[in-house]
Amino acid sequence: AADPRLQAISDAIRVVPHFPQPGIMFNDITELLLRPTVFKDAVDMFVERYRGKDIAAVAGIEARGFIFGPAIALAIGAKFIPLRKPKKLPGEVISETYILEYGTDCLEMHVGATEPGERVVVVDDLVATGGTLSAAIKLIERSGADVVECACLIGLPKYKDKV
Ligand code: AMP
Repeated sequence: AADPRLQAISDAIRVVPHFPQPGIMFNDITELLLRPTVFKDAVDMFVERYRGKDIAAVAGIEARGFIFGPAIALAIGAKFIPLRKPKKLPGEVISETYILEYGTDCLEMHVGATEPGERVVVVDDLVATGGTLSAAIKLIERSGADVVECACLIGLPKYKDKV
């Protein structure tokens, strides 16, 4: 049977049509954050999945992976690694450019954030095409660490069979 917490989590996600541009059905998690029990349930479900699995690091994708990632990392005793948009990190970085529907984007990570062989979970709020997560996985694997799994609250049904 499905976890009873899932319905409340799903109900707390607001879908805003035509934001930030026409044709996009934007999935907004800010309403969920206003409901501490639902927010906690969402974090707890990931914590229960990853606790005791020898996860050394949680890597969060800017920006909404920074909301859920650190909460999960602290609860499982892992470090938190921010994967950032270009030119935000002050130290030496490795970068991974990826293709969007219109144009390209890029994620960066500080060199030395992971050690070879470390087990890493990647966190973001939502997976659509999977392009962002694929770039995150490549970045982390280039550093020699292993991506165990990617954790997202929302999977857009439109892309379900393609990811
Ligand atoms: P993708 O790379 O296509 O899987 O897109 C996932 C990334 O874009 C995530 O960082 C999401 O936060 C953001 N994103 C894509 N589509 C949406 C959407 N419909 N609503 C909210 N965020 C989205």
